[in-house]
Amino acid sequence: MMKFLPALAAVFVFGFSAGSYAETTEFCLDGEFDLGARYQGLTPEPGEFYPAHWCVTTEDDSDRVLLSMRGRSNPDMEGHWTVAFIPPDLVRIVNAGSPPDFEFRTPKAAVEAKRTRLLDPRRAAPNGEPLLTLKTSAEMSLRGQVPVVWNWRSLNERRPRLEILVDGILIFRGTGARRTIDPDEAAELWQPTPGADPIEVPGDRWPARVAMELVKLTDGVYLVQGVRTGFHHMVVETHDGLIVADAPAGWVELHQFPPEDLVPGLSISGLSEKLIDFLAEEFPDRPIRAVALTHHHDDHAGGARAFAAAGADVYAPAEIARFLGNALNSETMPPDRFSDIDGHVIVRPVEDSVTLDDDVIPVQLINMGESPHSISSLGVLAGGYFFQSDLHVPNSDADEPRDDRSETECWFAAWAVENLPGDTVVINTHSLFQTPLSRLASYVESDGC
Ligand SMILES: [Zn+2]
Repeated sequence: MMKFLPALAAVFVFGFSAGSYAETTEFCLDGEFDLGARYQGLTPEPGEFYPAHWCVTTEDDSDRVLLSMRGRSNPDMEGHWTVAFIPPDLVRIVNAGSPPDFEFRTPKAAVEAKRTRLLDPRRAAPNGEPLLTLKTSAEMSLRGQVPVVWNWRSLNERRPRLEILVDGILIFRGTGARRTIDPDEAAELWQPTPGADPIEVPGDRWPARVAMELVKLTDGVYLVQGVRTGFHHMVVETHDGLIVADAPAGWVELHQFPPEDLVPGLSISGLSEKLIDFLAEEFPDRPIRAVALTHHHDDHAGGARAFAAAGADVYAPAEIARFLGNALNSETMPPDRFSDIDGHVIVRPVEDSVTLDDDVIPVQLINMGESPHSISSLGVLAGGYFFQSDLHVPNSDADEPRDDRSETECWFAAWAVENLPGDTVVINTHSLFQTPLSRLASYVESDGC
């Protein structure tokens, strides 16, 4: 999998192996990440770069790693997080700004530490030869099995540079800088944040787990919680079969080498295949009639092949139907249930809205158009509930939007007040808060909007 291309001996000038004492160093890459190429941008096209700052702290004489990242996970969401991997079995999410930390006991700590250390090219130097190029492949939603390449440049200078290419497309570029951390500061890095005891979380929850549970919202309308950590999906039971909102897929971490899925072993279609199996148990003899892909982001649309294999119609906003049709039928898709079917995944475009008829619970798919999150989004309205993804993700019952993504929250609140019936309750993929429309009306009136 990994191919080492050693540099010329003359290029290798760090000389860390000749150091007289064990050092702790922080290596930071300042650069930019292409959310478009990652299928997490406004449009599913390369060239949508946002600033990214990746730092890794490592030691000469241990395998411990402190990883700190800052940047955008979506066009409308800026974030930063820090995690410590302390082999053999401790992973700590470091909340230095607002303790407590969270701690997981899992053997994955050692594996992830190894993968993450390579962000510092000095740590990717077996036998003293730094690696200029690292090559592997990864199974990425909406792409298939594609090559992933790390190219280091200027390793002999003070500011080494890294480029990461996925399927031949530049997805990250950054320039590095290193500083030595003095021993007193270094010792504190590996301690829990003072002020509150860390919260112990069962180790099998790191980094994500599948623990599905069916929750009834009202007659015929359900939420499958815990499809994977932080993913909850609406399911509507109609006479002709189940209608599911979104086709979840895994998530590959590109700052690790080799990159690995958050839920390993499921490949691209596996998570949605698991959801379909779960629904077959909960609703025996009820086929899957349709899946509504809310938007083009790969964690929401990437599992659609599983639904097509189960015989479901696949719906998506008209603006991205062609892209999804191409992506889901890519020749690079690894074997899955759809591979056994001689056919094409057909993506049905929703221009304004489509109603999937039913005597009891008709289901309306509504194209909401362009938002600060994505070029287009579908919502699913059924039985008084409206499911959407990533436009309204409340983290409380407050009457005003959370301030870290207020632009999108305000956009959605205004759309919902104008377009949804007054007694609608809004639900979403990533949080379990349910929002009555009246609260969104308060958003619109609040100072936050
Ligand atoms: Zn999204």
